[in-house]
Amino acid sequence: MKILVTGGTGYIGSHTCVELLNEGYEVVVIDNLSNSKIEVVDKIKEITNKDFKFYEGDCCDKNLLIKIFKEHKIDAVIHFAGYKAVGESVQVPLKYYRNNLDSTITLLEVMNEFNCKKLAFSSSATVYGKPKSLPIKEDFPLSTTNPYGTTKLMIEDILRDLAKSDNEWSIAILRYFNPIGAHKSGLIGENPNDIPNNLMPYIVKVATKELECLSIFGNDYDTKDGTGVRDYIHVVDLAKGHIKAIEKVLKDKGVDAYNLGTGNGYSVLEIVNTFKSVNDIDVNYKITTRRPGDIDACYADPSYAKEKLDWEAKLGIDEMCKDAYNFVINYNKDE
Ligand code: NAD
Ligand code: UDP
Repeated sequence: MKILVTGGTGYIGSHTCVELLNEGYEVVVIDNLSNSKIEVVDKIKEITNKDFKFYEGDCCDKNLLIKIFKEHKIDAVIHFAGYKAVGESVQVPLKYYRNNLDSTITLLEVMNEFNCKKLAFSSSATVYGKPKSLPIKEDFPLSTTNPYGTTKLMIEDILRDLAKSDNEWSIAILRYFNPIGAHKSGLIGENPNDIPNNLMPYIVKVATKELECLSIFGNDYDTKDGTGVRDYIHVVDLAKGHIKAIEKVLKDKGVDAYNLGTGNGYSVLEIVNTFKSVNDIDVNYKITTRRPGDIDACYADPSYAKEKLDWEAKLGIDEMCKDAYNFVINYNKDE
């Protein structure tokens, strides 16, 4: 079985390529390297000891997609390619609408043309907006609070319309909670070049002294210790969820959405304290004001994914914190 992975050199895509190759799938990757590095291709090969074809290019480039589908008999696609920075999407919404929507529509048109109608799509828990209650189930109302989230919800709607129009399509919409951590090898992981927006990459850069101090955005939330609560999921568990999603789309028809989370909520302080203790390192922090748009707490009810995909997260926050730090230590050593 040959799987096209768009955005396959990115954070979640690279871990998913490793799991696909380890499971015996053939892999073809397209990535424009707008948010990842070419070295990742060799790292994936090093971890798996397997080869795969990499195309440097854009998913909005229809001719390139056609070339890829002509050169390979693609059985299914996992579509990660897209921009993901919430704050930036508020500043430059058109960049987000153009890239996330155009890349997806172009991909879907080419898949249709080549009669490849099996897809797993990277959505996000952000499509639940401010949930009324917790844990979050897939049938909760959908709404968004920023342009990035709106691109995800618009794409979900496009996919539901597409599946309605043609019952040959088989689509898994995967709503990720908060992926963190890295592959055990320390060869792939998340290490943004810019100042990170997300919690774990920021903690890591404070631990390595690249940044001075973590700002904890508010300690007056309605949570166990006042700091925000999220459902952190190890990126390797998340990657394994994609294998199950691909198995599902290869055998069934229709469209369905699945929460990929652990079902456990941890506060910012719990993450910081766990990181400090498992890595035996200090993390300077101060409490600051709330970040606009943040919600108190967000965690999944992951039971639907367990029932339908036979998937559940296995790794805990100790591993997530250890592996995130291990990757960056290893990465900085090689620089
Ligand atoms: P990432 O930025 O590390 O990976 C995305 C990859 O897509 C990058 O390598 C980038 O170079 C590539 N890309 C972007 N636009 C492209 C285009 N037009 N053509 C070809 N390649 C393109 O991000 P990630 O964390 O691995 O996220 C993967 C997907 O999961 C994204 O769609 C993201 O929105 C979604 N997601 C991520 C999170 C998260 O917290 N990381 C949470 C929910 C959903
Ligand atoms: N957070 C924080 N300081 C940071 C980054 C994040 O206190 O520098 C908090 C944030 O307010 C939220 C949690 O950490 O409660 C997770 O934030 P992240 O941006 O990683 O994910 P998201 O908000 O998208 O769930």
